Amino acid sequence: MQLSITRRTDLKQIPAFDSTLGFGRNFTDHMFLMEWKGEWKNPRIVPHGTLELDPAAMCFHYGQEIFEGMKVFRNAAGRIQLFRSIDNFRRMNVSAKRMVMPPMDADFLNEVLKTFVDIERKWVPDRKGYSLYIRPTMISTEAVLGVRPSEEYLFFMIACPVASFFPEQEGQLKAVKIFVSTDYVRAAPGGTGSAKTAGNYAASLSAQVQARAAGCQQVMWLDALERKYVEEVGTMNIFAVMDGKLVTSPLTGTILAGITRDSVIQISRHMEIPVEEKRFTIDELIGGIQSGTVTEVFGSGTAAIISPVNRIVFKGEEYIVGNDGVGGVSEKIYNKLLGIQYGTEVDPFDWVLEV
Ligand SMILES: *Cc1c(COP(=O)(O)O)cnc(C)c1O
Repeated sequence: MQLSITRRTDLKQIPAFDSTLGFGRNFTDHMFLMEWKGEWKNPRIVPHGTLELDPAAMCFHYGQEIFEGMKVFRNAAGRIQLFRSIDNFRRMNVSAKRMVMPPMDADFLNEVLKTFVDIERKWVPDRKGYSLYIRPTMISTEAVLGVRPSEEYLFFMIACPVASFFPEQEGQLKAVKIFVSTDYVRAAPGGTGSAKTAGNYAASLSAQVQARAAGCQQVMWLDALERKYVEEVGTMNIFAVMDGKLVTSPLTGTILAGITRDSVIQISRHMEIPVEEKRFTIDELIGGIQSGTVTEVFGSGTAAIISPVNRIVFKGEEYIVGNDGVGGVSEKIYNKLLGIQYGTEVDPFDWVLEV
């Protein structure tokens, strides 16, 4: 496929890369589009703008949609580097399969991303804690009412410079308070929990509203069947330091296979921090927090990278984790991962790709 490029002439004003930037609000000059009808066609980079869709387009009615999220960094030497983006495109194909959507050529998309980022170079922040966030998305576009897989799709990729996900964070770790949801579940066995698909997030909003009302920033999700195993936190994977060992829920099918999760596991092994993928219950977690065997809890995801949890609200009680701040293991892993992303640490894993 031949990529066509239409550059915009009325370039936008690039926002200041400071705390006013926020997350996901200022989009770059261009976007990438391609359509599918029997095959992918017309891949093109064009000025960022609105889409025109028939109101009958199936994505609006039946939610056949998938997306990804990854970050591009400017390293200490001023060079631009992608971080594991090929893994995001591969994971998007896993989501596509679950949602009966057409597969994409991950290598082709990674090449497109390189070209796209090269065009938007000036939009990649030159400040630690800041990055260019990339949002690849696929939607069903066939204009037919009727529940079945669409026969037409649109893939698009947009980009926005971002500060850290939690505005107070600014490249520094800051702990969050989380709310264990007992009324709602995120994903059930046989459902779509392991796909990055819009409906999962729509379904999570009631719990998020409850969490906010309880003064918490994120929701902790328990398993759907027994309502006791800890599965994820917000839109992040969950880690706990138990008896000096890093523990995370295994990929049981209801959990999104986070790339940050995998990076944390690999970095831990590399740093000789013991790590285990093992189911654990909310009672084990709370019990361990009370007895002092659980010393740290944190979430992992592209947006916040590592999000330490200092307080957990469960059934109306608030529990304080460890030192009520940021734990040593969390900080060690965060510094290593951030160091690789910003090029101040060597990358023994081959994760970064310079543009
Ligand atoms: C995206 C996401 C994650 C984190 O994945 P990363 O690849 O690390 O960003 C974890 N859980 C859910 C539910 C997600 O949507």
